[in-house]
Amino acid sequence: MADEKADAIAPHIRSVLAALGEDPNREGLQRTPDRVAKALRFLTQGYGQDTCELLNGALFSVEYDEMVIIKEIDVFSLCEHHLLPFFGKAHVAYIPNGKVVGLSKIPRLVDAFARRLQVQERLTVEIAEAVQKWVKPRGVGVVIEAMHFCMIMRGVEKQNSVAVTSCMLGDLREQLQTREEFLSLIRKKHNGLG
Ligand SMILES: [Zn+2]
Repeated sequence: MADEKADAIAPHIRSVLAALGEDPNREGLQRTPDRVAKALRFLTQGYGQDTCELLNGALFSVEYDEMVIIKEIDVFSLCEHHLLPFFGKAHVAYIPNGKVVGLSKIPRLVDAFARRLQVQERLTVEIAEAVQKWVKPRGVGVVIEAMHFCMIMRGVEKQNSVAVTSCMLGDLREQLQTREEFLSLIRKKHNGLG
């Protein structure tokens, strides 16, 4: 396409291919630099997303003050140490304090932070802090369970293990019973919905 500018990343990928001992001109690799550049832009598009805007426009006043849980949100991210994927599920809970956020916004928030170069621990904290900051609930909990290609594919010990990280704020941090409720609800795998 005439208006499609070549991505600045592409020539570097071409150099990487050559450094690997490959011939970047062979048929199968000719368009690889462009494809990789496009894939990297897609996988890091969270940098261009304004997370405060995402939540700010989607708050509703309610009387409801029980825990809201959004379970098993798909997470796809890139580890910042190896630029290899890690993927799994995020579970987000909060206890409203007069406001709730549109349910679809939470997965979008997870995506906005996941589609950057990340470490799982920071991703977990960033999601929790964003909900805390913009929804101002009585408490927030985020648990992420993920597998890391940099462990699986490099044959690092415990290669099939799932890394679990959590961040609890407010009531979910201070009240053991509330935290237990969240953790037991996300442990229940089959709820009859699929
Ligand atoms: Zn890694």
